[in-house]
Amino acid sequence: MARVYNFSAGPSMLPEPVLKKAAAEMLDYEGTGQSVMEMSHRSKAFDKIIKDAEALLREVMNIPDNYKVMFVQGGGSTQFAMVALNLMNKNNKADYIVTGQWAKKALQEAQRYGDAVAVASSADKTFTYIPKTDKSMFREDADYVYICMNNTIYGTVYHELPDTGDIPLVADISSCIVSEPIDVSKFGLLFAGAQKNMSGAGVTIVIAREDLIGNAMDITPTMLNYKTHADADSLYNTPPCYAIYIAKLVLEWIKNDIGGLDKMKELNEKKAKLLYDFLDSSEMFNGTVVPEDRSLMNVPFVTGDAELDAKFVKESTEAGFVNLKGHRTVGGMRASIYNAMPYEGVEKLVEFMKKFEADNK
Ligand SMILES: *Cc1c(COP(=O)(O)O)cnc(C)c1O
Repeated sequence: MARVYNFSAGPSMLPEPVLKKAAAEMLDYEGTGQSVMEMSHRSKAFDKIIKDAEALLREVMNIPDNYKVMFVQGGGSTQFAMVALNLMNKNNKADYIVTGQWAKKALQEAQRYGDAVAVASSADKTFTYIPKTDKSMFREDADYVYICMNNTIYGTVYHELPDTGDIPLVADISSCIVSEPIDVSKFGLLFAGAQKNMSGAGVTIVIAREDLIGNAMDITPTMLNYKTHADADSLYNTPPCYAIYIAKLVLEWIKNDIGGLDKMKELNEKKAKLLYDFLDSSEMFNGTVVPEDRSLMNVPFVTGDAELDAKFVKESTEAGFVNLKGHRTVGGMRASIYNAMPYEGVEKLVEFMKKFEADNK
């Protein structure tokens, strides 16, 4: 069977060269006579894989030396608790900007452990924009300010970061990591579940400024303490070895095949522009997000008619464009066009949408 164009929000498409390389190395990884899935996480071969993955991530993302990189488990969702337990440690206060479900879940989790509040929200317009903030809106004694950088469900992204002054900024970058360059030094901590843009499910990447590690609340479980993973170079216990290996292959693909994050951004912008330009010109399909906050990665759109939406989802699936149904809380459609979605996939989708519009006038 031919491969489909998979517009899933996550897990999502991986670059074909990565899948081919993994397939070729499945039975015998570099002469070890075993697959990466079978080898000890303490073996020399795996030690090289995890060290290479970290070195590549540092190089590709230009991560400063005073930041630790950790490969942990539990998905983006476990970070909602980890961030609060580890960072809400001076005044037990944290300020959240609520731009969708993921930020809201993070806030609710933090409220279990301290005085966490929403200082701004875009719930009034179904999260179709990024609320404007200024420094005066944050509590001076907040331990951190939290944002969800790219809102996977609603299709918004921060093109400009909030000014938090000296308060560390924490960001969930699950659905935009390695999609474009990002100035890591502007953040106290970044995290990303890898299954959107970097690997398969199983590994979560945490990038944390060193001075923020080591002051977790007393109640913090050992496995949820960043210090545990930072001190052990992510080998305190068995890490998600195979997902780390795939992340390494993806990073090699970005570095060697694509040419780095500046180039990746160019490709992503070109891809997204094609779809947004069509949505702006179409009489049937409409994007749901205000133009200035549109995500490069997740593009929600509607026809305004639930039956027509359903017909579109059904017919597009049959034509080989899968997982275009919108999130269950939003309805309509959503095309997730992460790094691995080829330009040609968006081009063909737009052709299909044009034809659908003509046929259903
Ligand atoms: C998918 C997603 C999550 C949740 O990730 P899990 O790994 O499923 O826990 C959190 N934040 C964002 C922005 C996401 O896109």
